[in-house]
Amino acid sequence: PPPLNVPSAALLAELASIVGPANALCDTADQAPYLSEWRGRYTGRTPLVVRPGSVAEVSAILKACNGARVGVVPQAGNTGLVGGQIPHESGTEIVLSVTRLNKIRAIDKAAHAITVEAGVTLTAVQRAAEDAGTLFPLSMASEGSCCIGGNLATNAGGVAVLAYGTARDQVLGLEAVLADGRIWNGLKSLRKDNTGYDLKNLLIGSEGTLGIITAATLRLFPAPKDVAVALVALPDLASVAAFFGLAHDQAGPGLTAFEFMSQRALGFSVKHGPVRRSPLNPLPAWSVLIEVSSHEDQRARGLLEDILTQALGNGIAANAVVASSLSQSADLWQLREAISSAQKPEGGSIKHDISVPISAVPEFITQADALIERLCPGARPVAFGHFGDGNVHYNVTQPEGAETLGFLARWDEISHAVHSLVIEMGGSISAEHGIGRMKRGELVRMKGHTELSMMRAIKAALDPNGILNPGKVL
Ligand code: FAD
Repeated sequence: PPPLNVPSAALLAELASIVGPANALCDTADQAPYLSEWRGRYTGRTPLVVRPGSVAEVSAILKACNGARVGVVPQAGNTGLVGGQIPHESGTEIVLSVTRLNKIRAIDKAAHAITVEAGVTLTAVQRAAEDAGTLFPLSMASEGSCCIGGNLATNAGGVAVLAYGTARDQVLGLEAVLADGRIWNGLKSLRKDNTGYDLKNLLIGSEGTLGIITAATLRLFPAPKDVAVALVALPDLASVAAFFGLAHDQAGPGLTAFEFMSQRALGFSVKHGPVRRSPLNPLPAWSVLIEVSSHEDQRARGLLEDILTQALGNGIAANAVVASSLSQSADLWQLREAISSAQKPEGGSIKHDISVPISAVPEFITQADALIERLCPGARPVAFGHFGDGNVHYNVTQPEGAETLGFLARWDEISHAVHSLVIEMGGSISAEHGIGRMKRGELVRMKGHTELSMMRAIKAALDPNGILNPGKVL
């Protein structure tokens, strides 16, 4: 499509009248929280942030912007890590925040389903499920701020993918507004529905480029009756892999988390995070936070202890601490979840969210560490993540004492090298964070011509003027 227009004063006035003056932010200070992202990598500009309070208002905004051919950047909790929710520096795109669409519309226990609006935080959905005696399993460190709209738009992963799948797997139905303002009501709670193209799965993971998600009907699960958590010390990556195989075989679907951390990752968390003491001393070369759940009373702890006894007995694991209270479990989880923020005080970090086949995780980390030492001697790899999904957050923190901006200026060069290794090993350059603005160039390396042209055809069909999240993903 031809280039988009700069929004006119008349359009801005029309948008403000749709949402009301209190929800049309044009003051720089009011706009600030919507214009920069968690890592501080992107800071954008906009003439207007609109905060619609209903689906009809979202529809009216998109209709007006499509008619005027003006770009719109959808935003939910603003915790995305690839710059997708931030407008460009040109200052010509409208930011549409869905945070006022924050109602839990219905819980249907018989259908094991909950219908929520796009601006409901992930924590609020989990709590609503819990209050109804059920479980909504999607979970990640950003859950207090990220919202369902963003979770679905990015097909978020997190710590429960191993047992329950990604955000996509939790969705039964969707409601969305298309680029021209048409509202699609696909809020069904059907488990089976083979009636043509799966439109909800087209929108999930599309990062705001195909439509704006306004509500979703999500799957609920029986809450486990017993959950046991342990932190386990392992001497090397081969042992982490062997321990995963053992736990997977023994616990089956009861293995609900298997998160791994390098010594440096755990060390940063202990040094800078809220839990200032490691239960494993000295810090092990590798550690695993393992969670086992059961639908029988008093069953999970026994099962976890059996797994640990075997792992310690045959030399796979070196040591283990089993949480004996809810607060100890929470502390172990905090040690894992604080890793991302604990890297900040150590200086700049170049971050990667990659996946490789599970069996290739040890080899990937070994080769990536050697690569980093060659490219940037002294740089400190911080590897951690969701081992059971083959998903490694392979972050590289600057050498001690290095100049931060100089190190971060090498982001593209270092990422290119790491991603080349990932592609060589048959992996993905974005396991769960998406493409956004940050990995747009890298996407072209990963996808073949046919795949890219199919994606472009879908974009052109659903958003012919290219107003939705311009310059993101494609
Ligand atoms: P935003 O950041 O607001 O938006 C993300 C993308 O979705 C943007 O492209 C935006 O345009 C689009 N979008 C937002 N709302 C809509 C909508 N209603 N309709 C259409 N498009 C929309 N991610 C994981 O997957 N797993 C993790 O374990 C994880 N851990 C994290 C830990 C921390 C500390 C942080 C800061 C982030 C983490 N993330 C993780 C990344 C982030 O939380 C997820 O990508 C999350 O799903 C983004 O949700 P959000 O509401 O913040 O979306």
